[in-house]
Amino acid sequence: MKYECHGHTISDGVSYKDSMARHKNGIDEQFIRHNLKLCAQHGISFYRDGGDKLMVSAAAKRLAGEYEIDYRSPIYIIHKSGYYGQMYGRAFDDLKAFARLVKEAKSLGADFIKITVSGMLDFNNNGRISGPSMSYGELCEMVNISSGEGFSVMAHVNGSDNIKNALSAGVKSIEHGYWPDRDVIDYFLQTGAVWVPTCAPVHNLIGAGRFPDGVLKSVLEAQRQVLVEAYKRGVPIAAGSDCGAFMVPHGKGTEDEYRILSEMGIEPERGNRTIEEIFKVV
Ligand SMILES: [Zn+2]
Repeated sequence: MKYECHGHTISDGVSYKDSMARHKNGIDEQFIRHNLKLCAQHGISFYRDGGDKLMVSAAAKRLAGEYEIDYRSPIYIIHKSGYYGQMYGRAFDDLKAFARLVKEAKSLGADFIKITVSGMLDFNNNGRISGPSMSYGELCEMVNISSGEGFSVMAHVNGSDNIKNALSAGVKSIEHGYWPDRDVIDYFLQTGAVWVPTCAPVHNLIGAGRFPDGVLKSVLEAQRQVLVEAYKRGVPIAAGSDCGAFMVPHGKGTEDEYRILSEMGIEPERGNRTIEEIFKVV
């Protein structure tokens, strides 16, 4: 039995553009069923989607029971206008608009709220991150608004300061969390939050020729060093492959993530009761 704690059913692991185009005349249910079948074949019984803007994860959630998969979704990512998140999300300008999006996600059946706190890594620029997308005060308010509606918050976030801010603000799971420093471990331990490090998308790019391998390797190594220590000290680590991302196919991507974590000595749902944590908090 495996758990996919961060995936995007909408994307096919090959082309983001084609993935979006696939559903432009209505949701392609066959594509979703194909992915769910792949997951079932790989023994995945729990799938936590990162959301999308075309209601594909919502449709997957509806169908997943047929494949005996417990499927959770935030429906869409909520991101600040002009900042990272537009690939899979809906934008807000102010907190009133954020609150409206949270309410709408609730009416659409969201299981939790997903926000972006900082950008992606720029592998052509030594893995630099953009953001933060909002002030710490605003971030706290976003978490408050979400919990007022009964939701935990899952945050896409990279960079040690951004990770610490997200944890202090009350975010329950850190997605990616690249470029951490050792101090983030205390924040995780104090808040009880879960780390979903999504190693596969960076790992699988090595040797692909799209980005400099040296940068990819240094990003992964910086992640590994803190991750291993965090695991040893009891931070709950969950296996989420970001499947659907470039070179991370559904089903196989989840296996990849487990293998990468296991090579670091991390057994995601054994050592730390991670899935129980996930079920409880996110
Ligand atoms: Zn993702």
